[in-house]
Amino acid sequence: MPLNHIRIVLVQPSHGGNIGGCARAMKNMGLTRLVLVAPEDFPGEEASARAAGADDVLAQALLYATLDEAIADCHLVIGASARDRHIAWPRLTPDAAARRMVSATAGQEVAVLFGRERTGLTNEEMELCKALVHIPTNPEYSSLNVAAAVQVLCYEVRMAFLASSEDRPLKTKTAKEDMPATTDQMEGMYEHLYQTMEDIKFFGTSNPDVIMRRLKGLFNRAQTTKREVAPPWIPPGYPPVTGWLRWEKCPGSRQGRRL
Ligand code: SAH
Repeated sequence: MPLNHIRIVLVQPSHGGNIGGCARAMKNMGLTRLVLVAPEDFPGEEASARAAGADDVLAQALLYATLDEAIADCHLVIGASARDRHIAWPRLTPDAAARRMVSATAGQEVAVLFGRERTGLTNEEMELCKALVHIPTNPEYSSLNVAAAVQVLCYEVRMAFLASSEDRPLKTKTAKEDMPATTDQMEGMYEHLYQTMEDIKFFGTSNPDVIMRRLKGLFNRAQTTKREVAPPWIPPGYPPVTGWLRWEKCPGSRQGRRL
């Protein structure tokens, strides 16, 4: 299925009706993977009623308790933001974001995050994203209903997909090591970097959160690969902190595998 590497992630949606509206918007545009993080009202009648025939998308929606778990394996995460943020994060227009999502090569996982109806996404959640996307609305009344925002972005994804299937017959395969690092791999590297900077007293009197946010912005712009953040030449057992040497738990198993 084309576009099945793209998941739409709703973070703590409060209204079941909006979840149904998102499912419908997705299916209209050929997307099927809906992910819900701690929804307040799901499953329920409101969601099914608003889905209007996209019940299959609701039925196969994945539920997670935390956003970290929902996007741990993603190579590209884009956050949809209704307003301008204080943090200087890479920004994409909806069509540029859609082109980037569609052009992800085989084996890459992509997520678009949508925030809570009342408060949107937090800055910490935005920091998990490689870029933000803003639908250019009236600045004095900029916030769309979440299902409407999903509709606009899924439409752009469809347009980008139709354009790309005209001029690009085959997706090329990228070696695993050269794929963009996943959220989990990036977070592991940040933990390690933070720990090392603490150890050498790099932060001094500055606020570590501010410095880490700037560094994350820098790494995100660089489109870091797995080879760069989890280098294979680091021997097992060194350094004795989490991060590069983290073991990823396989679902349903106590065994891990080396990241
Ligand atoms: N009051 C919230 C808006 C929440 S709207 C705030 O000020 O942040 C719910 C979600 O829909 C947002 O978190 C965002 O993901 C999406 N959304 C709404 N309007 C948008 C816009 N103009 N551009 C991009 N995403 C938008």
